[in-house]
Amino acid sequence: MLEKQQLLEIQKYILNGSKIAITTHTNPDGDAIGSSLAVLHYLKNKGADVKAIVPNKFPGFLKWLSASNEFIVFEKEAKKAKQTLSEADLIFCLDYNSLPRTGAVTEDLKAAKGKKILIDHHISPEIDDFDYVISDVNTSSTGELVYEFIVAMGDKIEINKTISECLYTCIITDTGSFSHSCNNAKTYEITAKLIENGVDARKAHGLIYDTFSESRLRLLGFAINDRMLVWDDLKTALIYLTKDDLQKYKYQVGDTEGIVNYALSMDKINMAVLVTEKDKKIRLSFRSKGNFSVNELSRKYFNGGGHRNAAGGNMSKPIMEVIEEIKSVVKTYEKELDYEIKL
Ligand code: 5GP
Ligand code: MN
Repeated sequence: MLEKQQLLEIQKYILNGSKIAITTHTNPDGDAIGSSLAVLHYLKNKGADVKAIVPNKFPGFLKWLSASNEFIVFEKEAKKAKQTLSEADLIFCLDYNSLPRTGAVTEDLKAAKGKKILIDHHISPEIDDFDYVISDVNTSSTGELVYEFIVAMGDKIEINKTISECLYTCIITDTGSFSHSCNNAKTYEITAKLIENGVDARKAHGLIYDTFSESRLRLLGFAINDRMLVWDDLKTALIYLTKDDLQKYKYQVGDTEGIVNYALSMDKINMAVLVTEKDKKIRLSFRSKGNFSVNELSRKYFNGGGHRNAAGGNMSKPIMEVIEEIKSVVKTYEKELDYEIKL
């Protein structure tokens, strides 16, 4: 956590009418949106002048979170977002470890003069780009760190039901509903506090997970049935979806979320990859079990990164060439991938 002196400096920004901006990574997920909104509510309730920016659209299953309609979406409202960043005295940088992770926002963020506070749980944060750093890879989510930040600010009492719903969303989405990144009593202690604060766990789960359109569920079935390659020797499964596939199944932002985990759920598989053809580029999602680091793999070969067991990447070549390239890279890791997960 930050030093007492640093916390006091931040408190000054909050209380003296300074302009504050909140930023997060491109293709924002539950942790990105939940932590941004938790900070937004917290600061607003303290009387701060604060606005939250997202680089691009976020999935519909996060829209139930209070104030989710207040985000400035950079892709749609660049002028407003640019002004917010250039005027900000303090900028919260949530759930990302390097400025380029903010996609379209990157250049304005680099040029912004405000002090930057990083709150994040990804490996190897580029800490020189930030003035204040709260970074812990051994934590479930950025939301968990936001909880601790608010407590460290002496404002535990401010964590009301609304903020708790945002933070609960961070934790359940980043741990796959308590199935990974949560071997830590603290995650459950904080979760218990959130429930005490009024979160309805069953309702929140339903609002996040039971919201599929028919076409999204059929896309999942199609992906597994028709678009999954299984490379037994490499203990790897890869699912790919072309632009035409997505169009056919009326793709909406968020519809491919979670698909990669189905490939990983086979017991013989140690690594899973989802390859999605987006407008001009190819998005990659990697997941692994055990010690194999998809973060390292993606950093080294696929212009991405993330965590040991969950990472993303980006390529700009035809999709079939990307798949070939993945296969040839993964072949060089055949030995590293040949392990049994002991239960
Ligand atoms: P997902 O596969 O769900 O998109 O991403 C998995 C994890 O990797 C998330 O924690 C996400 O923040 C991180 N991640 C996704 N894409 C990228 C990327 O392009 N670069 C980096 N450094 N991390 C990424
Ligand atoms: Mn996260």
